[in-house]
Amino acid sequence: MKRTFVLLLVVSLLSACSYIPFSSPKESLPMTLTQASFGKTTDGQEITQYTLTNAGITAKVIDYGAILTELHVPDAKGNVADVVLGFDNVKQYETESPYFGATTGRVANRIAKGKFTLDGKEYTLATNNAPNHLHGGIVGFNKKIWKAETLKTIEGPAVKFSYTSPDGEEGYPGNLAVEVTYTLTKDAELRVDYKATTDKATPINLTHHTYFNLAGQGNGTILKHELELTADHYTPVDATLIPTGNIAKVEGTVFDFRRPAPIGGRIHLLKGDAATKDPGGYDLNYVLNNQTGNVALAAKLHDPSTGRIMEIWTDEPGIQFYTGNFLDGSLTGKAGKVYQKHFGLCLETQHYPDSINQPKFPSTVLKPGETYTQTCVHKFYTER
Ligand code: BGC
Repeated sequence: MKRTFVLLLVVSLLSACSYIPFSSPKESLPMTLTQASFGKTTDGQEITQYTLTNAGITAKVIDYGAILTELHVPDAKGNVADVVLGFDNVKQYETESPYFGATTGRVANRIAKGKFTLDGKEYTLATNNAPNHLHGGIVGFNKKIWKAETLKTIEGPAVKFSYTSPDGEEGYPGNLAVEVTYTLTKDAELRVDYKATTDKATPINLTHHTYFNLAGQGNGTILKHELELTADHYTPVDATLIPTGNIAKVEGTVFDFRRPAPIGGRIHLLKGDAATKDPGGYDLNYVLNNQTGNVALAAKLHDPSTGRIMEIWTDEPGIQFYTGNFLDGSLTGKAGKVYQKHFGLCLETQHYPDSINQPKFPSTVLKPGETYTQTCVHKFYTER
């Protein structure tokens, strides 16, 4: 993994100056970057889909929501499947998407009761996940049309999405300029790099909200996938999924994934509660062992049925693990696949939920003059 670090360093140094021309040291590997129409939004705006290929992987992203719509990855036998849930038209992303593949913000995850105080001023946000605020509000970054720029970097094809969220949008303070860059690298990684600046102090917590299924989208549940998380602790929550403020040990709990374990092994212990509309399953933030701010391994996901493995590397302090508990068969996705409960899982690298109201958690406040950055790497390979 030393190599990954060196590559990340080289790429960030290069990207700090300018992106260098498209060329691959491994000439045999096809790298392509094309674009095509993805249809129109209900108010008639043209949406573009960008297709990136490299190292045998194909990723498709759209400028609506800076969403990853498809990710085709080979299995141990070389069979390629799309391993992310999603839709094949904009309309469904506009009307019924539970954040499939989306860039969520300005603050991903929950803010208790949609309220926070910053620099002595109280702010009130939409409580779109009653009684709390979720994933940036009613029209979050997942529903914005982003400006796209295609890039041909030494690492592989990339698309840089930019969006400036105006002061007061969804109740948040400050004009916030955001960039999200998807790069498909020659090392079979889908890397997401984030950058943001503001002109007033604001909370920010961006994340990537893909629902993965390494057996292929629509091909059953993720319960037999094996998961390993480099997290000894998690943030316990109340019935509305707001952290209590404690940092608890995973040891001896159903949340312990320090060693690889099938997701379905103990999930029945998280029964849920009809009274509080809790459908059961995993939906919690892990406190990653790496709190250095440097990129490190956070999660390893393995599907024994296909041999596909995905690692997630991040510089964020937390990761939200969500097992698609609210999927219930009411959504029909790509290729007519019906998404039932646990048909996909999210591993969202981010700061902890409700950090803006939790003084003991790492801060999510971005101030004028500072630059927010985040890197999240999804690395694919197969078992030998
Ligand atoms: C949250 C879930 C929520 C889901 C929405 C996840 O990030 O943790 O509670 O239902 O997003 O799709």
